[in-house]
Amino acid sequence: MTPVDPAAPYDTQNVFARILRGDLPCDKVYEDDWAFAFNDIAPVAQKHVLVLPKGAYVSWDDFSARASDDEIAGFVRAVGTVARQLDLVEPGYRMICNIGADGGQMVPHLHVHLVGGRMLGAMVA
Ligand code: 5GP
Repeated sequence: MTPVDPAAPYDTQNVFARILRGDLPCDKVYEDDWAFAFNDIAPVAQKHVLVLPKGAYVSWDDFSARASDDEIAGFVRAVGTVARQLDLVEPGYRMICNIGADGGQMVPHLHVHLVGGRMLGAMVA
């Protein structure tokens, strides 16, 4: 998989678009009108969930520039709801959003990683 080019148009065949359409399976943990969440296929901790907006947005930059206020509010609320559903709030957790090539983004549909379930090390570059 090559790093995401944030300037490229949205690829409707990207793996997360296919999961959202139901063309590929996933281990779903949450869905509402604005967001969809499932377990990462290669978890880095006991709890590692990806939360996606349902709209077709390549990255956080694309989303924050083009999405409606309702979409943004709905997605942000959904991320918090998933964290609570996973019982991450009290022990704490990490929220990660990789953006573009330098940010290490590999899948060109905006997603937030929620990682927790163990003591995480200091954030490093
Ligand atoms: P990124 O580097 O784009 O922020 O992270 C992409 C994440 O998607 C990685 O953590 C990777 O393990 C996960 N991933 C890639 N393909 C699939 C898939 O087909 N299913 C699931 N559940 N996760 C995937």
